[in-house]
Amino acid sequence: MSIKSRIRTIPDYPKPGIQFRDITTLLKDAEGFRLMLEGFTRRYRSDAVQVDVVAGIEARGFIVGGAIAGALGKGFVPIRKAGKLPGETITQEYALEYGTDRIQVHKDAFAAGTRILLVDDLLATGGTALAAAALIEKLGGIVAEIAFIVNLPEVGGEKRLHAQGYKTFFLTEFEGE
Ligand code: AMP
Repeated sequence: MSIKSRIRTIPDYPKPGIQFRDITTLLKDAEGFRLMLEGFTRRYRSDAVQVDVVAGIEARGFIVGGAIAGALGKGFVPIRKAGKLPGETITQEYALEYGTDRIQVHKDAFAAGTRILLVDDLLATGGTALAAAALIEKLGGIVAEIAFIVNLPEVGGEKRLHAQGYKTFFLTEFEGE
């Protein structure tokens, strides 16, 4: 059984027309979790991408990014929804389908020049990842690569991230399913 076959699809969640790709069914399965982690560590233990710190986007990026950081022996930095981090923060606003949202990171999360592996569970439009990458760059960090378990190529996030010069990495994709 593969990574992809362990990801459950819930139709019409959180609203009609959305095919929600639910990674909880991958993560609750010990072999699934192991395969997920191995997929990332195979890439980031190699010399292909040099990483100093892993940053995860709230909330599923914390699960995946925290596990990757632990396996690589690197530190972990949380990128959170506005108002959650206790120290001094910087903020990035980004557009949602309706309205805007804001994410934050601690100002002292890492030093300028640090190479960051940015992690989230899934890439759709790329709006969230682009905002997180902008936050990292505001602090002088370098986005070494942006990694996801799942890519939805039809939604266009991958093209958007590449157009901005970011490198991406995925373990699996859902297209027209
Ligand atoms: P986006 O900013 O459009 O790339 O959306 C990415 C965020 O929304 C990720 O953190 C995902 O967890 C969540 N998301 C968007 N679309 C889906 C989907 N079809 N299934 C599961 N999660 C999704």
